[in-house]
Amino acid sequence: MKSTKRILVTGAGGFIGHHLVRRLKADGHWVRGADLKHPEYEVSPADEFELLDLRRWDKCLTATGGGIDVVYNLAADMGGIGYITAFHADIAHNNILINAHMLEAARQCGIKRFLFSSSACVYAQSKQKNADVEPLTEEDAFPADPEPGYGWEKLFAEELCRYYWQDYKVETRIVRFHNVYGPLGTYDGGKEKAPAAICRKIALVADHDEIEIWGDGQQTRSFMYVEDCVEGLIRIMTSDYRDALNLGTDELVTIDELVDLVADIAGKRITKRHNLQGPQGVRGRNSENSRLRKTLMWEPSISLRQGLERTYPWIEQELQKAGRISKIHGQRTAA
Ligand code: NAD
Repeated sequence: MKSTKRILVTGAGGFIGHHLVRRLKADGHWVRGADLKHPEYEVSPADEFELLDLRRWDKCLTATGGGIDVVYNLAADMGGIGYITAFHADIAHNNILINAHMLEAARQCGIKRFLFSSSACVYAQSKQKNADVEPLTEEDAFPADPEPGYGWEKLFAEELCRYYWQDYKVETRIVRFHNVYGPLGTYDGGKEKAPAAICRKIALVADHDEIEIWGDGQQTRSFMYVEDCVEGLIRIMTSDYRDALNLGTDELVTIDELVDLVADIAGKRITKRHNLQGPQGVRGRNSENSRLRKTLMWEPSISLRQGLERTYPWIEQELQKAGRISKIHGQRTAA
């Protein structure tokens, strides 16, 4: 896809969607963004930005109309572990409507390619019970045992993409993200993910203070920096691979290790207070990238330290702008 395209990005007011619009514009494409809201932290560079509720069929037709070639469908009701474990009905209901209507609108408008943003939450919970988890291959989504609400909806929407290919030859691409983080992402308010929440908590306390960690801190995850995520999205869209692909890193860390890394970047000594009642999701989760490597001849390469060295200072500055911290702590590693 070297030539200039007319591209729709749904969820363009959100974290990954906004970064993707920036990259697609830099690559010279014409881009329409659609979302319930504008991006929170900077103005979208999209050529058109439509405020649309994509749960509604007529709004999906508006979004996909006007000669759009390809759709990156990133709009979703989602958040961190606290949010997705608390609102199963709303999340499943909202996302079913968005995905079913967006796929059908794409078909009716003759869209050439449609990318669906799925999640590692589709993977069977029974395979994620140990902290030293085997990395998850794409087959591990079946027999189906995904996370309630959000995970079940994503798994079904993946199936819907396959049916639209089988029955209508709509070219679909399915990406299973593993924990994306970076600047310009939500860092407060309940929808933030672990890296942003930990950066915020550490930025808000003084050297030698204590922060609360959900769970015992031994649960494991891998995290992908948003620049790698956007590169992977574009490569998957361009590839000929129609089935689901992991998009994540295989750099597995415990949540305690993530806290230690952020504290080191912040130049602070932090005491962890583990809240065993806090939601923590599956015990361990990692991405197995053999298929990604084979399909794209590429995989994410930005290390967690490199990514956090760019993310922590951004969150710290946002907190300072909001008047929540008075000065930036001095010992930080340079980005
Ligand atoms: P985000 O919450 O920042 O962005 C999602 C956007 O969708 C938001 O701006 C929201 O306003 C919009 N949206 C929600 N309901 C809508 C509606 N009815 N109509 C129009 N827009 C609506 O999330 P993100 O991190 O950028 O995630 C993008 C996609 O990637 C989502 O589909 C998400 O499920 C998936 N994903 C993300 C991660 C991650 O770690 N960030 C992990 C797995 C999957």
